[in-house]
Parts: sequence; structure tokens; C-alpha cells
Amino acid sequence: MFSGPLHESILKRAQEKGLVEIRVHDLRDWTHDRHRVVDDVPYGGDAGMVLKPEPLFEAVDALRKAESEVLLLTPQGERFDHAMACRLAETSHLILLCGRYEGFDDRVRSVADREVSIGDFVLSGGELPALVVIDALVRLIPGALGDESSAMQDSFVGGVLDHPQYTRPPVYRGLRVPEVLLSGDHERIRRWRRKEALRRTLLRRPDLLKLAALNAEDQSLLSEIQAEHEGERDEQTERP
Ligand code: SAM
Repeated sequence: MFSGPLHESILKRAQEKGLVEIRVHDLRDWTHDRHRVVDDVPYGGDAGMVLKPEPLFEAVDALRKAESEVLLLTPQGERFDHAMACRLAETSHLILLCGRYEGFDDRVRSVADREVSIGDFVLSGGELPALVVIDALVRLIPGALGDESSAMQDSFVGGVLDHPQYTRPPVYRGLRVPEVLLSGDHERIRRWRRKEALRRTLLRRPDLLKLAALNAEDQSLLSEIQAEHEGERDEQTERP
């Protein structure tokens, strides 16, 4: 499950450049029985199997360094977001514990520094959540992306969504690229992009704007956007 995503594209190049080292461990390496069993039936009787505590405790004992942060991936954890990604990207050594089956024996929580969920849904295992976390963190490491500025424009950086993007052709099936983007006027393009980023955020994720770092120009762009939308609403109500 890990080999594809870890050996393609940005994650592959970041490892080749020595920006990050990612190791995948098999929990079965910390079992002591002939069949290398990592799961067992739940106490109290119930459907499914539970990951035994011993392999997880021993794995963390073996892998933990003084500077490590241990993350337990669970749908019951704190929701992963850009702010958490930024905090975790500062950590020099992360251990991600992936569950399976019905999840971990609850005592495993005591070895974790943080419990992390990638969203309010349940996946079959922690491998995909771990890859989601890894990919989000590696993008934040300086030098991991081809163009450094592209990470700075991404959604959530600075608390707003990214502006709409277009590429050639200028007209496709009657759909036109906004004229300003073809103008070559860098200042107009910069202002348009910021305004559309703010518009997107206001319309789709107004909650983000409460925490966003907005300057005087942003406030004036937001006033323009609000006035435009109020104008549209008035026009609609006036139509018979
Ligand atoms: N019975 C558990 C529950 O309802 O909370 C779900 C277990 S899930 C089938 C198996 C494993 O997948 C979990 O232990 C966890 O590691 C991982 N997992 C599933 N959904 C996840 C999510 N949204 N975020 C993080 N990890 C998740």
C-alpha cells in the first residue's frame, strides 16, 4: 500500500534529494510467535479483531528517539488540517501508527503523543491516512516542490482558499478564461487573483476568514465582493 505513493512524484523526489527519510515497518517484526500474530479477539465478545498491544508498544520502544512525536491514526482523533500539518512539519522525527481491523487495543493510546483523524469517515486501515499526512507534510518542506512559491499559494496557507486557475486554450466550448489573465498586466492579475481567492473563501468557507491574516487591501476587496453580491441579489429580486 505504501510503495506506489512513496515512490512517485514529489514524495519520491523529496526522498531522493535527502529532504525526508520515510521508513515503513511491519508490525509483525515485533511479534514473538511462529505465526507472527498481531491481532486477537476483543474482550467482551464482538465482531472483528483488535490489534494486540505488545507489537505496538515494542515497535514504539524500538523506534522512538528523544525528539520523536508518536501519532496514532484513528477516526476518533483530532482532525488533521493545514495548521496541524505546519506544526508537524517542524518535527524532526514522526512515528505514525496505522491500525487495521476494529482498531488498536485502547492501551496503545498511552504511547501516542497525539491521536489524528483525517476526516469523519472510516477507512479500512491507517495506511492511507498515514500517506495523506506524509504527503501534506512533505509539501511543506522547503525544496520539496519544484516551484517554492506554489506551496505559498495553496488553499489554507494564510487562511484563504486558492484563486481559480486557468490554462490554454483561452476559449473552450464557449467557456472563456477571464480577460485579465491574458492582459499581461501583472498588478491587475495579482489583484484579481487575491480578490477571487477571497471571494471563493467567503462563499465556500466563510469560517476560514475569521482566522485569516487580512490586510487593508483584503478588507477593501472583501467590501467590493460583498457589494457585487448584494447588487446581484437586488437584480434577482427585481426580476419579475
Ligand atoms: N472501529 C474503529 C472506529 O470506529 O473508531 C475504526 C477502525 S478502522 C476500520 C481501522 C483503522 O483504520 C483504524 O485503527 C485507523 O488506524 C485507520 N483509520 C480509519 N479511518 C481513519 C480516519 N478517518 N483517520 C485516521 N485513521 C483512520
